[in-house]
Amino acid sequence: MRVTLKICEGCGGLWFRAQELNEIYCAACSMRLRAFPAPRSRRLAGRPRKHRRCTRQHVNAGGVR
Ligand SMILES: [Zn+2]
Repeated sequence: MRVTLKICEGCGGLWFRAQELNEIYCAACSMRLRAFPAPRSRRLAGRPRKHRRCTRQHVNAGGVR
């Protein structure tokens, strides 16, 4: 299976994506979006801590940012 390095649209972290998939989010962000299918809701948008937890994962993995 081929993978390609992508930048997550959700948290800006680098992640590897299977080439045949069209995901634009890393695993953490896609899971989060699946749990909250309406991210435009102001209630959900006003919770930056979820973002932060996701970003930290990327920092540990790649040392980016
Ligand atoms: Zn992400």
